[in-house]
Amino acid sequence: MEKVRINIAIDGHSSSGKSTMAKSLAKELNFVYIDTGAMYRAAALFCIKERLIEGNEIDERRIPTAIERMYIAFKYNAKTEQSEIHLGGANVEQEIRSMEVARRVSLVAAVPEIRHKLVNIQQRMASSGGVIMDGRDIGTVVMPKAKLKFFITADVEIRAQRRYEELKEKGVETTLGDVLHNIQERDRIDTTRAVAPLRKAEDSIVMDNTNLTIDEQFDFLLSHSRKAIAEA
Ligand code: C5P
Repeated sequence: MEKVRINIAIDGHSSSGKSTMAKSLAKELNFVYIDTGAMYRAAALFCIKERLIEGNEIDERRIPTAIERMYIAFKYNAKTEQSEIHLGGANVEQEIRSMEVARRVSLVAAVPEIRHKLVNIQQRMASSGGVIMDGRDIGTVVMPKAKLKFFITADVEIRAQRRYEELKEKGVETTLGDVLHNIQERDRIDTTRAVAPLRKAEDSIVMDNTNLTIDEQFDFLLSHSRKAIAEA
């Protein structure tokens, strides 16, 4: 009988390096990587384009009908060898990384109807196993039965510094102060929202990477993953 493949959940604070780790781990283990943050960012972009959000105000009344027209999907790009996020058929992989989206995404991600829709898609993607998914509610809501769960964090100043350097490299114009403020705001909204707030699942393994190199982080996650796969 073929072995059932496990799922791996990775949650944690904004800009803690979850997606970098999840991507490398998926490649090494031959798992499918799913970036749920990209899905919420695409939902935020949808709300901006549809004028469902003005400043910090979301038009909650129009959301249920409007999101029936919100099509979010990943499509594999053979050139980049990555799955890229699409909104209404258009590739929005670059657009969702802007500061404008970063500033609004946590507000949009707190809307119950949006979470409900995206969680359904995520659970379908995870149903046959072999998935590494990163986000905020993966170990608690999306895959509460995942065989292996990680919770990644680091000091907020370190996270802001790393994120700032990454954005600078991509040519996004911003300041360290702006990035730090954005991360603090997202942490605040993500941990205090009523629906599926960011919290550590009781059975997750914590990794604080404030003082860890990329290699050290990867080795830590890989050794736990290999162990969990062997035990499955
Ligand atoms: O992971 P990333 O920083 O790209 O996520 C962007 C935002 O999407 C988070 O700050 C959070 O508000 C939201 N999010 C969420 N639940 C997830 C993944 C992301 O609420 N599973």
